[in-house]
Amino acid sequence: MYYARSFGRTMGELMKNRFATGCLVMLLCAPCALFAQQSSSPQLPALKQEAASEVDKLQTLTQQMVDEIFSFSELGFQEYETSRYVTGILEKNGFHVEHGVADVPTAWVATYGSGKPVIAFITDIDCIPRASQKPGVAYHDPIVEGAPGHGEGHNSGMAVNVTAALVLKKLMDEHHIAGTIKLVPGVAEELLGTKAFYVRAGLFKDVDIVLGAHVESEFSTSYGTGNGEWSGLVSVQYFFHGKAAHAAAAPWEGRSALDAVELMDTGWDFRREHLRPAQRSHRVIINGGDQPNVVPSEAAVWYYFRELDYPHIKELYGLGNTMADSSAKMTGTTVDHKLVGSAWPPYLNKVIAETQQKNIEAVGMPKWSDADQTLAKSLQKEIGAKVEGLKEKIEPLSEPAKKPTGGGSDDIGDISWNVPMVYLMYPANIPNLPGHSWADGVAMATPIAHKGSTAGAKVQAMTALDLLLEPMLVQQAWDYFRNVQTKDTHYETFLSPDDKPAIEMNKEKMEKFAPQLKKYYYDPARFKTYLEQLGIQYPTVRTNP
Ligand SMILES: [Zn+2]
Repeated sequence: MYYARSFGRTMGELMKNRFATGCLVMLLCAPCALFAQQSSSPQLPALKQEAASEVDKLQTLTQQMVDEIFSFSELGFQEYETSRYVTGILEKNGFHVEHGVADVPTAWVATYGSGKPVIAFITDIDCIPRASQKPGVAYHDPIVEGAPGHGEGHNSGMAVNVTAALVLKKLMDEHHIAGTIKLVPGVAEELLGTKAFYVRAGLFKDVDIVLGAHVESEFSTSYGTGNGEWSGLVSVQYFFHGKAAHAAAAPWEGRSALDAVELMDTGWDFRREHLRPAQRSHRVIINGGDQPNVVPSEAAVWYYFRELDYPHIKELYGLGNTMADSSAKMTGTTVDHKLVGSAWPPYLNKVIAETQQKNIEAVGMPKWSDADQTLAKSLQKEIGAKVEGLKEKIEPLSEPAKKPTGGGSDDIGDISWNVPMVYLMYPANIPNLPGHSWADGVAMATPIAHKGSTAGAKVQAMTALDLLLEPMLVQQAWDYFRNVQTKDTHYETFLSPDDKPAIEMNKEKMEKFAPQLKKYYYDPARFKTYLEQLGIQYPTVRTNP
């Protein structure tokens, strides 16, 4: 029903607008079968060419977005400046923006166009604690000591998607292309904090295809479970409550919440041996008490429980809760817990990935300069990684891993189980870095990130054009989604009805650092680039004595 309707409407539009010569032939035959063979709109190659050259014309804006968001350096749920800046650009360009969606103040949906298909672009905007780093400098040199920074490169994502969206808007207007484009930010992705809530709030209900983009050192896309290095997870905080007392004068009067945390951690570490090799779990103690002569009445520990699929993640979650309850019993304390993040392991759409791969190959890798390569190699040497500079070749589209091993997580997983989705990896960072560290921020406001974001924007725009002009592709993507991906696996959220987005997280940290970071916000009216504003010679590398 859904697709019959959208297909009919879009094909009508196509006939009216574009297939003046072809439509007579089409009308004489069974429309669907013929359309399937008529694999592409005659205008498509020219439109893609036009999209690529329009993206090139926006290079300065792309660079400014990369640099500006880098300078904001905002942690998850506190991306106020970033969201204000990006939605400002979109509103100025005629997009309708709905703010504060899914009960997340820094989340929004920007929309342009009308009718089917509805294509949504998503990319993350938050940064990493303690990752402050001067761009273009190949050794650890923070802008603000201890402050958050874009130590993964999420600052480049909106430059990719907004550039693509502005170009698409222009082409849709000029060539009367029907369809709707939407942009959504990945708020608090580092906390796996929002996408399950987006899904619950129905943000993707009317969306046909989601085109995600994420910074990488390579230019690639994937489908299914990809290289197998994805896990899903729940992120849970356990709060233990005991009884304070003088730790020397009357310890028998006290009940230590910290003891409970330590017993839970010890229990978990013993149990770890008897879990499936696919599990990955880790913790930080977020409250260990105040001072040693006070028996800690409050203590808290924060766990990520990762596994390969929903049932196993649920099982780990249950086991964590059992350990917490048992530790509370042993120590005479009480415990409650709060789910602060969750993610299904992503599963990406084969049909769109194959289409996207052709666009990646057509766009090709950015042309790196000697300065780009010098920065990359110096940084790789500095951190003891394999010294091989920046990648020069496109990655082929490979078969999904037969036996997934698991690894990191991304809450786009929840979206990918509700709408056909692909995840473009665009080449805007240096290979062989540790991830989530200052080192991953080094390239992120330099020509490496600027050029990589431009390349990414081209692929996003071209892939959207494929979908806008070829309704059969959208239908085939849904066939794959329904008949392959979700044939035996059905999405169930990890959220309970009471769970709410953890929007208060990172508030204190950001309040502490924002006044210092503000002094370094990028001002494109005065400086061509952020490197220029900071007075950094590009590249700045260690000179060996
Ligand atoms: Zn990320």
